[in-house]
Amino acid sequence: MVIFQNLLSHRICVRCAGRVYARVGSDLDNSTRGLIIEFLISVLDKPGFRFESEDNCEICGGIFRNLDRYFNMASDLTQDYEYDTFLVGSTFDDKTVALESSVQKGAEAHSESIKKEFNRELGKLISSRTGKEFEKNDPDIALQFNLKYDSLKLQIKSLYIYGVYRKFRRDTPQTRWIHKEYNQSKSLEELIGEPLIIFSNATDFRLHGAGREDVDVRMLGNGREFVIEGMNPKVRKIDLEEYKQEVNRNSDILEILNLEFTDKKAVKSLKESSYTKTYLARISSIETIDAVKLHTSLDKFTGKVIYQRTPLRVSGRRSDLVRARTVEEVRVLEINGKQASLEIRAQAGTYIKELVNGDEGRTSPSISEIYGAPLKVEELDVIKIHRGEK
Ligand SMILES: [Zn+2]
Repeated sequence: MVIFQNLLSHRICVRCAGRVYARVGSDLDNSTRGLIIEFLISVLDKPGFRFESEDNCEICGGIFRNLDRYFNMASDLTQDYEYDTFLVGSTFDDKTVALESSVQKGAEAHSESIKKEFNRELGKLISSRTGKEFEKNDPDIALQFNLKYDSLKLQIKSLYIYGVYRKFRRDTPQTRWIHKEYNQSKSLEELIGEPLIIFSNATDFRLHGAGREDVDVRMLGNGREFVIEGMNPKVRKIDLEEYKQEVNRNSDILEILNLEFTDKKAVKSLKESSYTKTYLARISSIETIDAVKLHTSLDKFTGKVIYQRTPLRVSGRRSDLVRARTVEEVRVLEINGKQASLEIRAQAGTYIKELVNGDEGRTSPSISEIYGAPLKVEELDVIKIHRGEK
């Protein structure tokens, strides 16, 4: 009788033999399983049979006796990083993988891979020595060992901080210019992200906004939601109050508030959010504004659905479509000669400048069209984002 034939086809150790039946007998470790197999083979088949020593094993080559070494590699590379949770991953060379699958052939349903055992055993060791928690989903640090090249790479989870910003200037873009010219003013992204680099020692940053306003539009009122992402942070538990104060030193440009730590999922929900907004628009006409006519015209926009073809000014960046948008209300706040101030409440994604000027017929009906003379937005502010309302 030949039993455990595949296990005899190569020189392997008790641990690698035991791993072939890793899913059998839950109170056993792989070395114990291997010893039982060794016992059975020697009793039933080959008297005096012994598996190889781990160091001479064709599959593992004794790596499990060297976990200390891998622990030290991890320890050296992670020493500058603050983290609570980690994950161990590994890649083995093709030869080891092929050898293992030939030994496990036919018993795959009972087996586990060397990679899985390595990740688990090293994970246990790191956890017991550092007190850090092994975390499968979304760990602070993922340790990626490559056994073929005897190397280790770290994957550091970004730091995500949620907040709300208010923007007080008409020359500040939300995100960095792709080709920054030397006299262009800093973006909100830089003004919020650069201090994050100082606080967290991150390598880079990215601002994720819940939508965006034009460069020349101020964002006032309750502010716009954002998440600032710091890549490869060394410090995760930054003092949000101090960080906020540092950003808000540029209080003539912006203010950030309501900061809290968040995660990657928040970026997605932020991007998918869309809220009605209220704007303050200062408009102008060539002629003195006819108050009665303006009031009558604006009354027609209450609850009005308008159609907006992608404005010329953004046509290079957005696909050319006609979008239906609902204008909820337009109120006159003040009329002064050729100028007026309007409060406009409209559905998310409404192009307000085009709602006023008509964009050469691309937005219809427009306020200019109904009023009967060209009107133009001189200044625009977002004064409320209706979060939590429909
Ligand atoms: Zn082995």
